[in-house]
Amino acid sequence: MNEIKIVIAGPRGRMGKEALHLIHTTPHFSLVGAVDRINGGKLISDIEGLPALDAPIYEDLETCLQQVKPDVLLDLTTPEIGRKHTKLALEYGVRPVVGTTGFSAQDLTELQDLAEQKELGAIIAPNFAIGAVLMMKFSQMAAKYFQDVEIIELHHNQKLDAPSGTGIKTAEMIAEVREKKQQGHPDEKEHITGARGADFEGIRLHSVRLPGLIAHQEVLFGGDGQTLTIRHDSYNRESFMSGVQLAIETVMKIDLLVYGLENIME
Ligand code: NAP
Repeated sequence: MNEIKIVIAGPRGRMGKEALHLIHTTPHFSLVGAVDRINGGKLISDIEGLPALDAPIYEDLETCLQQVKPDVLLDLTTPEIGRKHTKLALEYGVRPVVGTTGFSAQDLTELQDLAEQKELGAIIAPNFAIGAVLMMKFSQMAAKYFQDVEIIELHHNQKLDAPSGTGIKTAEMIAEVREKKQQGHPDEKEHITGARGADFEGIRLHSVRLPGLIAHQEVLFGGDGQTLTIRHDSYNRESFMSGVQLAIETVMKIDLLVYGLENIME
């Protein structure tokens, strides 16, 4: 396989550290730069706890893209920065692979248009865990038979966005096949605001944030005298890395923006 030159944004983050390990141990991946707002001018190997990669660090992506010519930008930052980085990468002819969550439908449409205009591949995946993608697909299958469904997503308490990108994506996939229905009793009242969770086309979405958790989701279906629970758990960030690798390899072969890992899995 041809060498793929990568720039990473967010290398000191929890996902970033794991992705650096992936790049370091994948023979056809090479790290040519990193974006980190507090370590500009250093090398990745200068930072304690990061692998011995002598890729230069830049304070901002634009300077980085002017100095090095990567094939792929891997963004693992925050929603505002990730959105800015994805746009900038496409403008510089670099293919973005984005794990950062919290993009709006409007952001996605704008980025889709830009990727199409530039004829460049881009992948935005709110969940890189293969098992989580299967959980979403199985939920979509079940939703054909069960109209009543509630989603409970559970994450660590440092997560900035709620509901999670995976929770929203699951609700969207279910809504594609489920006959619209407002769930619960028509006269139900919330005595404390938020008790029934967020409402996505009548599907209830609940977000739990607790220390000790990583990324988990339960999709509960209810029917006549039966319930069905589909659950996925990521116990560490290594669980996302086979999906990151697949996305980096696939983005080199496509010329449009793909949202969701399920769209690149066979
Ligand atoms: P994290 O540990 O908080 O790391 C975020 C990184 O972004 C840090 O290195 C941080 O650097 C950097 N950053 C923040 N603001 C920045 C700025 N203005 N300019 C440059 N860098 C900036 O978070 P994480 O757990 O690694 O998650 C990162 C993202 O991936 C989040 O959006 C999360 O929801 C998402 N995520 C996706 C998946 C998936 O499968 N797609 C899985 C887990 C997480 P500082 O230390 O300087 O702030």
